[in-house]
Amino acid sequence: MPVDSSPKIIKNEEQLAQLSASQRIRYRLVGADCRYHANDNISAFIKDGEMEELKAEVQARMQQVLEALVIDTDSDHNTHDTAQRVAKMFLDEVFAGRYTPMPSVTEFPNFSRLNELMIVGPITVRSACSHHLCPIMGRVWIGILPNEHSNLIGLSKYARICEWIMSRPQIQEEAVTMLANELQDRVKPDGLAIVMEADHFCMHWRGVKDTEAKMINSVMRGAFLKDANLRREFLSLLDRKSS
Ligand SMILES: [Zn+2]
Repeated sequence: MPVDSSPKIIKNEEQLAQLSASQRIRYRLVGADCRYHANDNISAFIKDGEMEELKAEVQARMQQVLEALVIDTDSDHNTHDTAQRVAKMFLDEVFAGRYTPMPSVTEFPNFSRLNELMIVGPITVRSACSHHLCPIMGRVWIGILPNEHSNLIGLSKYARICEWIMSRPQIQEEAVTMLANELQDRVKPDGLAIVMEADHFCMHWRGVKDTEAKMINSVMRGAFLKDANLRREFLSLLDRKSS
């Protein structure tokens, strides 16, 4: 059965209600002129109960993928529930950062006027590449140079925000930029630095099958861009030895 995902002209609420959950959500996104790339968060467009519908829809289509792969899911007990497991894994776990709102983060003013370099990390990163949906496993370090007008957030919140951004199909360069934008908006530091180092399983499992390759990239903003000493201090304090 071919999957019809072409846009439809909807004339009334009744017609909208007849669409699948993914079609309804897409209809709202298009109507709001809102981007819905793999690494975008679309939680604001999902209504109560629709996640369960989405899961059922992904399960049904995943089952079609297994059929197209000519796997006998009826007699093969190992793959009997695979479509359901994969749907649940995508929506509730590995891509949850697309479907759930940003974790609540309390910001508090910088009462003590901290203005020293602060480093958070390594934060464990579990993500997936948008190209192959293969895992990306790695670590992130965040450097913050606050000023008296900065908002501070609890240490564990850096990991929560990082997890929220990484648990989507991502491209490493875009992931670190997204994380930097989010932290810049909330913390408003004088300087912000992020380094991410990750294994891309599409390099190990397929393609060149290079098991040693790691991708490292960084974002430097504000004081970290202007001040080479600060940048050096940050980079020298990263504990990357155990990788
Ligand atoms: Zn890939």
